[in-house]
Amino acid sequence: MVKEETLKTYTNRTQKSKKLWEEAREFIPGGIASGVRYFEPHPFFLSKAKGSKVWDVDGNEYIDLIMGYGINITGHAHPAIVDAVKEQIEKGSMYTMPHEKTALYVKELLRRFPMMGMFQLANTGTEATMHAIRVARAYTGKDKIVKIEGCYHGQHDYLLISIDPPRAKAGPKWAPTRYIQSEGMPRDTVKNTLVAPFNDVESMENLFKKHEGEIAALIMEPIMLNCGVVLPKKGYLREIRKLTEKYNLLLIFDEVKTGVRVAAGGASELYNIEPDMITLAKAIGGGLPLAAFGGKREIMESLRPIGRTSHGGTYCANPLSISAGLACLTEVMTNEAHRHITNLGNQLSKGVRDMIEDVGVTAWVNSIGSLGYVFFTDMEPANYRDADTTDLEKTWEFWFNMVNNGVLPWGPCHFEQWYVSVVHTKDEITKTIETSRDALRKVKAS
Ligand code: PMP
Repeated sequence: MVKEETLKTYTNRTQKSKKLWEEAREFIPGGIASGVRYFEPHPFFLSKAKGSKVWDVDGNEYIDLIMGYGINITGHAHPAIVDAVKEQIEKGSMYTMPHEKTALYVKELLRRFPMMGMFQLANTGTEATMHAIRVARAYTGKDKIVKIEGCYHGQHDYLLISIDPPRAKAGPKWAPTRYIQSEGMPRDTVKNTLVAPFNDVESMENLFKKHEGEIAALIMEPIMLNCGVVLPKKGYLREIRKLTEKYNLLLIFDEVKTGVRVAAGGASELYNIEPDMITLAKAIGGGLPLAAFGGKREIMESLRPIGRTSHGGTYCANPLSISAGLACLTEVMTNEAHRHITNLGNQLSKGVRDMIEDVGVTAWVNSIGSLGYVFFTDMEPANYRDADTTDLEKTWEFWFNMVNNGVLPWGPCHFEQWYVSVVHTKDEITKTIETSRDALRKVKAS
């Protein structure tokens, strides 16, 4: 349990939010529009965001490290994005007909992900992964998809499996049981989804062998970012690439969080691995809804009108999102900007690690450039089950104490991470590290 005193401070600071939430839950299930936004005793409501800061309806100011779960790599309301969106909206927001900027935008994606031959556009990460696996199935003529325990790829039934299974239902570590995450998912829909552990080449090979000739693709987050931050062991991704070739199936990197984040060309660039397909969303849209899935040319040619695989969407490549995305990728996210977020992120993770040592708390910081997370456990997590050993009470005690002192360390969910944006400053990172000292002291005393 989070300490009563901590929750009392939170509630006292967020009285207007509480009232808004109590009203909203009369009309909206749970009073929130997306599952992860709910937490007890009540979520806080924002009224404004600018640069590295957000303000809630009670007037509290926060240094924002949630940054839209990574969407706002440019910070909030960046002038380049605001100008691009203003200029476009004057000329119309939704054409639902082709326009010139789409190809310009995709060329920029191809420059960043040169191992891909083509990209097609979508609006959310969910759509991107749904389309990618359909293309993979069409191209290979196989039905089964392998996913990794603890990875999240969106809300569609095919992959809403084994994201955070309770230990009692997860099966053996080396051969996880398929855990259905939601009611309403027909058993027939999930029977073609197989589950493997992260950072374990041998178990993956056993699964590939058992289902040889039946698997279309392995989809994975190359760095697991839906259970904090879990990094691939040295050489792991290369071994996985070799295995997918040996067993003749496609490798899909879900770079919705890592793409245009851990390097200009995502984890594929960082680890120098060439997947067959990549899915992107979040930071690629400069703050507006935009997603993409790409692949080798012959794979992407499975799509209509060249092939017979369906893709579509009324909002796909709408000029507003494309304008924001183009400004983000070509004007704001220069190589210098990528270096800046990596350097600040490194400063933050080092600072928090030092604080953990100073205060004397059992915790582990996993980080990669601008992303990081504190696990309240005594080892470096290498997979979902390790990550799941983190002490949730301590995690929330830390989270609320950061929030009560004006820092949003990560989304209100125990398996997110901090996101440093281009507009965060050294001073704000220093303040965040200082704030973590007090929060860690509270954790120690809890
Ligand atoms: N893939 C990954 C790796 C994600 O982290 C997410 C969302 N956090 C998604 C896909 C789904 O994206 P969206 O919420 O835009 O549908």
